[in-house]
Amino acid sequence: MPGDLTTSPPRTPAAATRKFRILVVDDDRDSVDLLTQWLTMGGYEVTSAADGQEALRRAQSDRPDLVLLDILIPPPDGVQVMRAIKRDRVMSTIPVVVMTVKRDVKSKVECLKNGADDYIVKPFHFDELDAVVRSSLKKRYLYTSRERANRQLRDANERLLKLTVTDERTNLLNDRYLKRRLGEEFKRAQRYGTPLSVAMLDLDHFKEVNDKYGHDCGDLVLREFGNLLTASARTTDIVGRFGGEEFLMVLPNTDGIRAAIVAERVRKAAEEHIYKYKESLVRITTSAGVASAPANPQVHDENELLKAADQALYRAKQASRNRVILDRASMPPDVLDGDLSAIFKASYEDDLQRGPDVPES
Ligand code: GH3
Ligand code: MG
Ligand code: MG
Repeated sequence: MPGDLTTSPPRTPAAATRKFRILVVDDDRDSVDLLTQWLTMGGYEVTSAADGQEALRRAQSDRPDLVLLDILIPPPDGVQVMRAIKRDRVMSTIPVVVMTVKRDVKSKVECLKNGADDYIVKPFHFDELDAVVRSSLKKRYLYTSRERANRQLRDANERLLKLTVTDERTNLLNDRYLKRRLGEEFKRAQRYGTPLSVAMLDLDHFKEVNDKYGHDCGDLVLREFGNLLTASARTTDIVGRFGGEEFLMVLPNTDGIRAAIVAERVRKAAEEHIYKYKESLVRITTSAGVASAPANPQVHDENELLKAADQALYRAKQASRNRVILDRASMPPDVLDGDLSAIFKASYEDDLQRGPDVPES
């Protein structure tokens, strides 16, 4: 049964500040037409459904801001439709206003218990409907505004968090974050008795790139080298920019030999990479120092591990650059006397004693 819609709207309801979408569900064609006309005049966008199935389909696809729902409709009936809407994660926040002929308290309570946000008895006056629609939409508007504000806050927090852990120039993790994670990984490795290695990498003669091609080219090299580094790492490795043209790889669960193999892979990739800057093709190599705990007995904390890697890096620079040196004390004891070059092409400390330019096998 339709509402008191036989009279034409007494006055146009004040226009909504923005177009809200209202889904009208009623199996009475005349009621739907009249409500549609009236709501459209009020500045609302209106869609409609004549039975429960269509109502659910439209509630999903049209994303209404409000559902005006007749209870007595072809199945599923209004109560079932309402339940389904209120159970759905996305749709549950859409207000549902029930239109019904039942005016007794029991029916009203039943509707509210099943999730109705409001209730209007047929036949109703347009002013009454206007008030109910407005109050429901107001709630909806406040809710969506708050949701939007929450979302914006969440995004801003995420951006802020990313900013505090990343280096803007290379988009890699920054030194502060690297140090914190290294500290955590060191403790974890100690507790579980697993190996932990670090590789400290420094671009060779990087200053010359800046001097010859300019600072922008230098920045591009840093970014692309960062990509090479990330590509060579596993997802469990922690890789970042440690300083100007210095990078750090933290390799949990990795002994010195394996860490040197990773560093060697980066060294080789860097050696082969050509950086394109404007008309210029630029090449640059990298040196790396690798250290590992608990193999190195002098290393008691993460700073000592970094120091050992830094010293190995210094020796790599001294030796010839474009090479990887594994801190001798970080070598697993069982391979100390073995021929390392058979395992990987990186050099190690003894190379220094054999002279700086021993060709890599
Ligand atoms: P070495 O092989 O001994 O490491 O020589 P190098 O020239 O790479 O080392 P040096 O420490 O002499 O110079 C490093 C240069 O890196 C100097 C500094 O201006 C430059 N640099 C540091 N940070 C940045 C940066 O963010 N962008 C650019 N373009 N240059 C940077
Ligand atoms: Mg350098
Ligand atoms: Mg440097």
